[in-house]
Amino acid sequence: MTKTSNLDLLHRSRAAVWHPCTQMKQHETLPLIPIQRGDGAWLVDFNGVRYLDAVSSWWVNLFGHCNPRINAAIVEQLGQLEHVMLAGFTHEPVITLSERLAKLAPTGLGHCFYASDGASAVEIALKMSAHYWRNCGYPDKTNFISLQNSYHGETLGALSVTDVALFKDAYGALLKQHATVPSPDSRLAEAGESSHDYALRCAVQLEDYLQQHHQNIAAFIIEPLVQGAAGMAMYHPVYLARARALCDQFNVHLIADEIAVGMGRTGTMFACEQASAGIGQMNGITPDFLCLSKGITGGYLPLSVVMTRGQIYQAFYADEIARGFLHSHSYTGNPLACRAALATLDIFEQDNVLAENKNKAAYFNRIAQPLRAHPHVKHFRNIGMIWAFEVEQTKPNFAQRCFALALEQQLLLRPIGNTLYFIPPYIISEAEMDELITRTLIVIDRLTN
Ligand SMILES: *Cc1c(COP(=O)(O)O)cnc(C)c1O
Repeated sequence: MTKTSNLDLLHRSRAAVWHPCTQMKQHETLPLIPIQRGDGAWLVDFNGVRYLDAVSSWWVNLFGHCNPRINAAIVEQLGQLEHVMLAGFTHEPVITLSERLAKLAPTGLGHCFYASDGASAVEIALKMSAHYWRNCGYPDKTNFISLQNSYHGETLGALSVTDVALFKDAYGALLKQHATVPSPDSRLAEAGESSHDYALRCAVQLEDYLQQHHQNIAAFIIEPLVQGAAGMAMYHPVYLARARALCDQFNVHLIADEIAVGMGRTGTMFACEQASAGIGQMNGITPDFLCLSKGITGGYLPLSVVMTRGQIYQAFYADEIARGFLHSHSYTGNPLACRAALATLDIFEQDNVLAENKNKAAYFNRIAQPLRAHPHVKHFRNIGMIWAFEVEQTKPNFAQRCFALALEQQLLLRPIGNTLYFIPPYIISEAEMDELITRTLIVIDRLTN
C-alpha cells in the first residue's frame, strides 16, 4: 500500500462517500478527519494526531476503541462461524445472548427479536405492536403516540414517530402522521415548578389523549429518561411510572426505545429500572417492548434487538403462517455481532462497571464545577454517564463552530443546536476527564468571546 495522508483521504472521501447526517457542501470549508486507528478513548489520524472521543462515536462505544477483550471474542468467533441465516437455523451466540439479556432486562421480557440497527428495532416494535392487536381482534389499533421532540430513527416508520423537524419535514408526504404529546423535558417546567410536578402535568395530558383516542392506538413509544437527539433532554422518572400505568389502563403498549440510554448509560443497566411511582422510590417498570442497539456490541458491530413479553409472543404462535411475525433482515442475529455483545456483557460483570461508573460520574461532577459555573453555561445536567448543558451565545452556526474549535483542541464534540454534551466511553480515566473539562472550557471561551 502507498503511504496515505489525511489530505489524500479527505479528498477521496468527499468524492466517493456520501456522509450521513451531513450537508456535503459544508465540507468545502470544514475538513473531514480520516481516522487511522482507535486506542481506548482516543481516535488517531494519519498524522498521529489524537482526538478524545467525548461522544463515544455517536454514543455507541462503551469500553474504548480496539478493546482487547472484545477484539479477542470477535477473532475467536471469526474462526468458527462468521454468519448463518437465522430462519431455520440457530447458533450458540444468539441463544446465549438472548438468555443473558432476558436475565438482565426488566422481568418478563423473555423473547428477543434481532435486527442490525436502531431504526430497524423501532420498525419491528411498531409492526409487532399493531400486528399483535390485529391478531387479538383489534384491527383498528394502528396509530402510535410519541413525545414532542422525540427521536426514534430515520427509516420511514421510525421517522413517523420522530418529532425533529429538520429530519422529518422533507419527507412529510411519505409519512403516516402520528400524534405527539408534551415532553416532560425538565427545562420546560415553569418557574417555581419542580421537574417532578411538571412530569406529572405532562402525564395528565397523556391521559387526556389516551382517554379520547385509545381505541385506535397500538402503542406509546418513548425514550426513557433522556431524549437524546432533542439535545439530551432529561426528565423525571415519575413520568415513566405514570406512562406505564396509563398504557395498562387504556390497553395500549408501551415501547421503551433504550437504543441510546440502555446498556448502563443512565446509571442502571436500563433506564426503565429507575421509573419511580413516588419521590425517592425506584420501582422500575417493564415495557411491552424494549429496543436496544448502539452500545449493545460495545460499539463494534451493527446489532439491535427488540425484547418482548410471553403474552405478545403467544399471540403470534399459531398454525396459520400469516399470524406469525414474518419480518426479517439478512443479517438478523449475526454471530460476530452477538459475540461482541456477549464480550460486552462479560466486561460489565467482570469489571463491576455500573458501580465504577458511579465513582467516575462523581469525580466528573466535582471537576466540572468551573464549567457549571461558567457565565455562558445554562441548565448543566447529568444522569449516569451523560452530561449536557446549553451555551448561551448569539452567533449563528454554533454547532459547526464548536465542532471545529473542539477539533483544534483534539477533542471530538458534536453539539446539537446550542447544546453541548458528553457521552464518554466508560473506560475514560480521571486524567482524560480532566483534559476533557480543560479543553472544553477553552472551546467555550473562544465561542463566547
Ligand atoms: C440512535 C437512535 C435510534 C436509531 O438507531 P440507528 O442505529 O441510528 O438506526 C433510535 N432511537 C434512539 C433513541 C436513538 O438514539
